[in-house]
Amino acid sequence: MAKTTLTEICGCIHLHTTFSDGGCGYGAIIAAAGGAGLDYICVTDHMTLEGKRAGFDGPRDGGIFVLVGYEHNDNDNRNHYLAFGVNKTAEDSTDPQKYINRVKQLGGIGFLAHPAEKRNYIADLPPYPWTRWDATGFDGIEIWNQISDWMEQLRGWHSFTKLFRPNRSIGGAPTELLRKWDAMNGERFVSAIGGVDAHSRKFKKGPFSYVIFPINVELRGIRTHLFVDKSEWGDKSKMSGALISAMRDGRGFMSNFSRGDARGCKMFLRDETGAIQYPGRQTPPYAAPSFPITMNVELTRKAKITLVRNGKPIQSQKAKSASWTIVDKGVYRIEAHRGRKAWIYSNPFPIGGYPFTTLNDEQ
Ligand SMILES: [Zn+2]
Ligand SMILES: [Zn+2]
Repeated sequence: MAKTTLTEICGCIHLHTTFSDGGCGYGAIIAAAGGAGLDYICVTDHMTLEGKRAGFDGPRDGGIFVLVGYEHNDNDNRNHYLAFGVNKTAEDSTDPQKYINRVKQLGGIGFLAHPAEKRNYIADLPPYPWTRWDATGFDGIEIWNQISDWMEQLRGWHSFTKLFRPNRSIGGAPTELLRKWDAMNGERFVSAIGGVDAHSRKFKKGPFSYVIFPINVELRGIRTHLFVDKSEWGDKSKMSGALISAMRDGRGFMSNFSRGDARGCKMFLRDETGAIQYPGRQTPPYAAPSFPITMNVELTRKAKITLVRNGKPIQSQKAKSASWTIVDKGVYRIEAHRGRKAWIYSNPFPIGGYPFTTLNDEQ
């Protein structure tokens, strides 16, 4: 059996600090990340890399790795884009294609942020959806955004019980966004991350004013689990590169911690030679596969596990583990639900060569 040298790291992506509109400074966030048992955090203040200049980028005390990226928006504060691996911000623009290209030119990677956000009932917090679906060249999509999900669940402000345990209300990635992502993956590999969008915001409603989502709560919701090379993650000079390439290549999955700690969950393909493929961008021999291949899922808790092919669920079972035989090319991925809520979304497993049959082509 082929040996893998990958190790799982678990972290929170898309955090704001007092360098932009967040309520917490780096010190408090790093301490909270340590308390939450995370391996890494990715900070993305609006239009600034101040955290880098202040020296927070890199391995910190408590074993937390901090990656300082930033969140770009267009001149009208639309089309938010999470950029990582850059030492300067892209120039202001009205055209997201320009900052997508510029981030790439600067050696970085980027993700469409909260692209399906649609709340329209809180004047202070308008939605910031992605509007330019003709744009190309981005590395991935923030498929599941915690603050967008929360806000959808808190619609109307009458469900006060949800405010006290906000993570319990996280529902799942927006269906229409999953559909778009699946369709894109028929054409080229498009990675996904889960984002927290942590601001530790103070909310005001009538006479009330409180931080509904303090940082220690925010870090116990949507997490992104990545498989990185064990030797690289142990080497301080290589950790940043290991984290960035795992995000770019979609080498992992997203989970909602309040549905269960997903650390230790695995999903991988194995062919008859024993070659293993973790979620994400294809490695040999899966571009020219020899069937049968098995899709193996091992979870830490029982869940409804679903195998999705080219955007359509094709197998499902309630179990702690599953193993399915695959005999067709296609883009596969795994979802796990606990109760009526989503727990896990894996990144895609492309089996065969691009382009695949896309959603629109299927009957
Ligand atoms: Zn944003
Ligand atoms: Zn944000």
